[in-house]
Parts: sequence; structure tokens; C-alpha cells
Amino acid sequence: MSKRVSNELIVKDVVIVGAGPAGCSAALALKGSGKKVLLVDKSVFPRNKTCGDSVPAHALLGLENLVPGIYDEFLATVKSVSFRTSALVFPKGQRLFFSWPLPGYVTERRDFDGFLLKKVTETTDTQIITGLKITNYTRVDDLILLSANNPDGTSGPEFLTRMVIAADGAPSLAARKLAGIVPDQGAYGQAVRCYFNGVKGLDEGIELVFYHPDFFPGYFWLFPMADGRVNAGFGMPEISRRKLKKSLASLFSQFRDQHPVVREMLENAEPIGDLRGGMVPFAMKRQIWSGPGFMLTGDAASMVDPVSGDGIMQAVRSGMLAGIAAGTGNYTLYDQQVEKFLWKRMESQRRAIRLMTGFPHLIRIAAWLGRYHWIRNRFQRWIW
Ligand SMILES: Cc1cc2nc3c(=O)[nH]c(=O)nc-3n(C[C@H](O)[C@H](O)[C@H](O)COP(=O)(O)OP(=O)(O)OC[C@H]3O[C@@H](n4cnc5c(N)ncnc54)[C@H](O)[C@@H]3O)c2cc1C
Repeated sequence: MSKRVSNELIVKDVVIVGAGPAGCSAALALKGSGKKVLLVDKSVFPRNKTCGDSVPAHALLGLENLVPGIYDEFLATVKSVSFRTSALVFPKGQRLFFSWPLPGYVTERRDFDGFLLKKVTETTDTQIITGLKITNYTRVDDLILLSANNPDGTSGPEFLTRMVIAADGAPSLAARKLAGIVPDQGAYGQAVRCYFNGVKGLDEGIELVFYHPDFFPGYFWLFPMADGRVNAGFGMPEISRRKLKKSLASLFSQFRDQHPVVREMLENAEPIGDLRGGMVPFAMKRQIWSGPGFMLTGDAASMVDPVSGDGIMQAVRSGMLAGIAAGTGNYTLYDQQVEKFLWKRMESQRRAIRLMTGFPHLIRIAAWLGRYHWIRNRFQRWIW
């Protein structure tokens, strides 16, 4: 899908930067709006994205209105493993189970994101350019001029538009250049993941998240995948990592060695590929979501759930909301809808993570109380 583009000026009504879940959802939401839309990504697809690969059904169900049948098509064509239960596993082996009303799917991001981009190609008139990196944003009257580089570093075409939908992930160049946002270490985390073969003791349909007091509020995960591989990862708020003065890679190894259950499960497991990391921009403080000529979506708008570390569903929702607002030209709608459907929903998550970080013993009390069904259900409703 990649192509080298000659140096020229391309004028579009809307330019979407980034073809991950947020960018593709925005393009799908602009379908039928009559706008001339460009979707541009620096990567050549299919591309992978460092992730836990856990995609909630909500993310796909949200797109059903735009692309009827997308959920069933995903199930029929994209390799995934479904789960309906998550277990929080304590060092002595105690497990606290949470059951979800809708399933989640562990699917490699190469496949999931590739599927979404294919739907954009099939169902919209969006012009798609991959392998082209946006390098700068300049205001020209009430328009925005985007500069770009080809994969070989030479300068590519320029784009002129009234509206940029920033879906360029984290850290976002668009958020910095258009909204003046610089990442705040109190509001983001970092995570690493590696694929493994030969992990022992997995249960079908259960995602495992591991707690250890020495690493809290960081946590480790093991998510079983369709081909017998397991996505193993560790994530932590950046501010906590700095206090420990360790790299995420060494914390990943230490957690694996210090948590008896993780150690045993990974004892004879074979890593496949390298440990890879990425930034996780939590929805911890209200930031700018839009301004003259731009809307920020997904990770570019710092929308990751600070408790679970999930950001795909918010990327899809915010992308859709931005696409709808750009399609109607009613841009003020975007902030209102983000506030209502995403930011308010995150309030309980922010409260939960602040409380758990401030009083780390609470998690052990919750584990003890979690033996009682009704308390566990209340706890689950409160944080999810
Ligand atoms: C280790 C790790 C584990 C995670 N696990 C989970 C999980 O299990 N479940 C979950 O829901 N969330 C998880 N997340 C968060 C999740 O990955 C993100 O929230 C999600 O990918 C956000 O989607 P997005 O579309 O906003 O950005 P992205 O998916 O990051 O897509 C951004 C796109 O923009 C492109 N781009 C970037 N800069 C430019 C540029 N200058 N020019 C052109 N294109 C550009 C990139 O190539 C990329 O394709 C995890 C994150 C990490 C780091």
C-alpha cells in the first residue's frame, strides 16, 4: 500500500494523521460526508504496534453503525482468542476473578489495525498514503500546512487543509505543534511486551494480570493468543518508574523473577522476538482536545484508561466522534461529546488509581474482601 509521492501541494478538506484505530475510525465516520479526506501514516501496512493486543468487543461494536457487519467480519477473518474473564493473580497464587458482560479479543495489532485500514479502503473514498511521515504543521491564515518526509528522508508532498484530525499516537507531534501539549510525567506510563511460546498453566478464556507489592502500581500481564503464543508485558506509571530508577526492561525481568506464579509459568517459555516498549498516555488530567483547525484523538489526546491501561476502545470512540464532527463541520460538538462519552467515564478510573496509589494496602484488602461475591461485583462496577 506504500507509494513514493512526488513533491507537490495536495489540498484536502480533512487530513487524518495516523492510521491506527483512532485514524481509521475517523475515516470511517467521514464516509458519505462529501468531504475530501486524506489518511496518512508513516508506517507501511500491515505494521505492528507494541501493545498487549487485548481488544474489547466495545471497540468493534461501536463501529457497527458505520460499517454494519464489521464485528462478525472481524470474528470470521481475523485471528484472535476471546476471553470473558480476567484474573488478578497475587504472589501466593490467590486469584481474584472478574467476569465481563462482553468478551475481549487478543489479536495481534498487525492484524487488527490492518483489518480496520482494509475497511477504510473498501467502504470509503478516503485517499490513503502510507510510508509518509508528517514532520511539521504550520498555520497559514485559517488553514494548516502539513510538511512530510518520504521513507528515504527526502521531503515529500505538502498538504493544505482546514481540519487536521490528529491520530498519530503517543507522543503526538500534532498535539505538540497544534495544541502546545508536552507529555507530563505525572500523567503517562510506559509499558513493554514480548511474545512467548511454551507458557505453562494457562486457562482458556482468561486474561491474567499479576500483582506484586514491590512493583505496584505497575503490573505484569499474560494474555494467551490464537496460535499458542502469549503476549507477556509489564507497565507502570512513569512517575513510579523514575522513583525506582530502573528501566522498564529490567523491571519486566525482575517482576518475572520475583512473582512465584509468573516465574513458574514462564520457566521454560521461549521468547519470540525482542521486548518492545511504548508510551501509555493516561487520561489523568483534562487537556486540550480541539482548537482552531485540529482535533486530537486516541493516544494523541491522552485517553488511555489509567487503571487497565487500555486505550483502543477510546481511540475508536474519539476517532469516530472527530470524524462525525469534521463531517458536519460542527467542531464544538467534539469537545462536548468527548467530555460526555469518554472523559466522564474515566472519572471513576482516575479516582481508583489515585486511591490505590495513595493507599497500596487497599489492593490486598480488596483481594481479601473479593472472596465475597457481592463485594467483588461492587468493586468491579466501581472501577470498570
Ligand atoms: C506495551 C503497551 C501495551 C498496551 N496494551 C493495550 C491493550 O492490551 N489494550 C488496549 O486497549 N490498549 C493497550 N495499549 C494502548 C494502545 O496501544 C493505544 O491506546 C492505541 O494503540 C491508541 O490508538 P491510536 O490510534 O490513538 O494510536 P496508534 O495505534 O499508536 O496509531 C498511531 C499511528 O500514527 C502513525 N504516526 C505516528 N506519527 C506519525 C507521523 N508523524 N506521521 C504519520 N503517521 C504517524 C503511526 O505509524 C501509527 O500507525 C497498550 C500500549 C502499550 C505501549
